[in-house]
Amino acid sequence: MTGYIGRFAPTPSGPLHMGSLLAALISYLDARASNGRWLVRIEDIDPPREQQGASELILQSLLGHGFEWDSEPTYQSTRSALYEQNLSKLKLQGACYDCPCSRQDLKLSGGKHKKGCGYYSSNGSSTDAPFATRFRTTQAQENWQDCLLGPQTNLLEEGFVLKRKDKLYAYQLAVVSDDIQQGITHIIRGNDLTSSTPMQLALYRTLNEKSPEFGHFPVIRGYDGKKLSKQNLAPAINSSAALTNLKTLMGLIGIVVPISIHQPKQALDYGVGQWQRKLINPAINGYQL
Ligand code: GLU
Repeated sequence: MTGYIGRFAPTPSGPLHMGSLLAALISYLDARASNGRWLVRIEDIDPPREQQGASELILQSLLGHGFEWDSEPTYQSTRSALYEQNLSKLKLQGACYDCPCSRQDLKLSGGKHKKGCGYYSSNGSSTDAPFATRFRTTQAQENWQDCLLGPQTNLLEEGFVLKRKDKLYAYQLAVVSDDIQQGITHIIRGNDLTSSTPMQLALYRTLNEKSPEFGHFPVIRGYDGKKLSKQNLAPAINSSAALTNLKTLMGLIGIVVPISIHQPKQALDYGVGQWQRKLINPAINGYQL
């Protein structure tokens, strides 16, 4: 084992589909080919988006496709204390503010916060209205060397939310807190998330933590250019077709699984032996099935 720790972090808003299975696969191949550990984290931070039973289905599908993870899966729903701790650290540094302004308010005012908003003070919001906690962004963009796409520059969302008005922790805070606490060294995920990376980099820096390596691969897109997702009704994968599913996905990145292979686990092992980061073509925005 090396110091590499990777992860697959599905949101249980539905069962796995080919798009999310590709994220599991590429993060797994990169971790195992680096003799690293590979963790699974269920991102069940947003109960309204969650689908009953999806977490169990996701884990079963991963097992059915031959994936083996190191350590028990973690669940974001059990980790609020960690998120609160990081939020307090950010507050102490004045790196966030309590903001009663809605997205719509900010849009209408051209980004100007309402009178009494915590944006203008270090003592929080002075109105009784419910508030979200937002990050005090200090720069407009971040650059990073993506280990799959090469040099990247992307904009930050000004004042992105860390804790929502409904008091749920926002994705950016939860994901960075978990990745730090779990010692994740490599975040390998779809290019639909390149827009989140600058906000996550800003959080690492402000929390005084070394950022991991980021690698983004082209996600599977439909003919309309939209990412295959639960929202556009991508069908759930069926573990009885696990070998075919893996062959199809490996085929997208140019790994041809030999016909002598009959078990999903063997196909994964074969993939690990073949994997190279240069199999990912940074010039394409998405794969098509
Ligand atoms: N939970 C996120 C998703 O399913 C992925 C988060 C990440 O990989 O950083 O889209």
